Amino acid sequence: MPRVPRASDVIEILAERSLMIGIGGVVSLTLGGLLIRYKGQGYLTGLITVLFVFGAIGVIFAAYFALQVRKVSTHEIKCPYCEEPNVLVDTPTDDFPCVRCNRMVPIVDGKTVTVDQVRCGYCNELNYYSQKTEVLLCEKCNHEIPIAVDENGPRKTIPAAFVVVDDEALYELQLVGQGHKTEELINALQHMLALNRNQVKNMLNEMPVTVLTGITRKKAEMLKAQLSIYEGEVEFHPMEEARR
Ligand SMILES: [Zn+2]
Ligand SMILES: [Zn+2]
Repeated sequence: MPRVPRASDVIEILAERSLMIGIGGVVSLTLGGLLIRYKGQGYLTGLITVLFVFGAIGVIFAAYFALQVRKVSTHEIKCPYCEEPNVLVDTPTDDFPCVRCNRMVPIVDGKTVTVDQVRCGYCNELNYYSQKTEVLLCEKCNHEIPIAVDENGPRKTIPAAFVVVDDEALYELQLVGQGHKTEELINALQHMLALNRNQVKNMLNEMPVTVLTGITRKKAEMLKAQLSIYEGEVEFHPMEEARR
C-alpha cells in the first residue's frame, strides 16, 4: 500500500505546479499582448491567437491548482514519541516517519498505537517500542534490547541476528544453562510450558534438557529471547539435525 503523503508535501507540489503553469500562462499572454501592440499585422494573427489560448489555459490551470491547495484535506496524527503533530492528507495506512524525530510512528487500523519506554541495559538510553516492534535496537549504542513480553500478549521480540532467516523447518528448544535469576526463570518456564513448579525444577536439574519440540524457528527465537531475559541459556536446533 502506498504511504499516505504529508499534507505539506501535497500542498508544495500543487503550489509549485500552479506557479509554473501560472508563469507560463502570464508569459504567453504578455507575449501575445506585445505582438498586438507592436506588430499588429495580419500575418501574426495566428501566432497571437495561439499565445492567447495557451496563456488563458495556463492561467485557468494555475487557478485550478491554487484552489486544489485549499482543498487538501488534513488528518493530524500526533507522534507518540515526541508529541509533534504530523499532518497527512488522509488516515495513515502504514507506519510513517515523524517530521520532527524521524522515528517510525506505529500505525494499526489508522491510529497510532501506544509506545512503551525501556532503558537500554548497556548505555541507559531511553528507548521506545510498540506492539509493532519486532527488534528493538538501542538508538544510541545499537545494542539489542530484549523486550519483556507475555507470550500471549500483543508484543513480541525476536533477536535481530535471526530475523533474516525464515524457514519452514521445525525446531527443538533446549535449555542448556541458567544464571542467577532462578526464580524468574522457573516462573517463565512454568508459564511457557504449562508445567508445575516441581516439574520445572526437575527440568533445571537435568540440563541440558529439551523443553519443546516441533516449533517454528520464529517461535524458538521468541522463546529464546524471552528466557534470556531471565538468564536462561537456550539453544535450538532443526529437528532433523537433532535426530542425527
Ligand atoms: Zn516524533
Ligand atoms: Zn544503548
